[in-house]
Amino acid sequence: MENYKLWIGSHVSFNKSEQLVASVKEAISYGANTFMFYTGAPQNTVRTEIDDFKTIEAMKLMKKNGIDISKVIVHAPYIINLANRKNLDFGTSFLIQELERCEQLGMRYLVLHPGSHVGLGIDEGIHSIIDGLNKVLKSYHGNTKILLETMAGKGSEIGSSFLELKKIIDGVTYSNRLGICLDTCHLNDAGYDLSNFNQVLDEFDQVIGLDKIGCIHINDSKNEKASHKDRHENIGFGTIGFEKLINIIYHPKLENIPKILETPYINGDYPPYKQEIEMIRNQKFEENLIDKIISFYS
Ligand code: FE
Ligand code: FE
Ligand code: ZN
Repeated sequence: MENYKLWIGSHVSFNKSEQLVASVKEAISYGANTFMFYTGAPQNTVRTEIDDFKTIEAMKLMKKNGIDISKVIVHAPYIINLANRKNLDFGTSFLIQELERCEQLGMRYLVLHPGSHVGLGIDEGIHSIIDGLNKVLKSYHGNTKILLETMAGKGSEIGSSFLELKKIIDGVTYSNRLGICLDTCHLNDAGYDLSNFNQVLDEFDQVIGLDKIGCIHINDSKNEKASHKDRHENIGFGTIGFEKLINIIYHPKLENIPKILETPYINGDYPPYKQEIEMIRNQKFEENLIDKIISFYS
């Protein structure tokens, strides 16, 4: 693990005035060499125009600070639900717009929640997602790939099993422009046993193929395996635990994959990422991490 090239970062913000420059500065402040952001509020459609001068400034800042832009991730807004056919026109047109924004920002990966079937059933949901993605990828031909995220299976979420994701990929014509984002909290909550991660990875390889993994969200979980809850916990403080997460983060087959923390702020105020990244780099669990974070920011 000595020479392991770790690509680690967290969710950061992208604001109206400084745009990507703000995201890069935040990532640098956490000691990260990658990051993930939304290009606007995830719950609405308000989007500010991208300022190319800001993007160029951000790119210079990335280069200077060892952040590889090809490892930076965008998360699609969660108002897009391709599994609900009634909203498919909105979902597809907004997704195309997001992909174009990613392209303009020089971003290679857009993470998307497959969607929730809202009572219409898994098969209908999957068909709707396939139709939506086909429509999107027929109209958008740029360099940004869509990464479908593995989900916890909360409510009527689709994509909590590798087989469901495989069905979607198989139905999409341009599936070479589709990949997968694993999320450790979601995998745990969906019922995958992360204490036997090699077996999980083997299963993924057989069903989908390791080459499809474009990103991994690293989160501990507040809930037990197979709880279908989706509540993230700070690294080492949840039911997955530090050792299992380190084993995933430093897995030899996942070296080049960017790993992104989406763990909760402490007391809703303090971002835990600088200290969590430090702890991950040291590969040693820090029992006093939460106190350390609180005293750092107060
Ligand atoms: Fe997500
Ligand atoms: Fe996630
Ligand atoms: Zn989640």
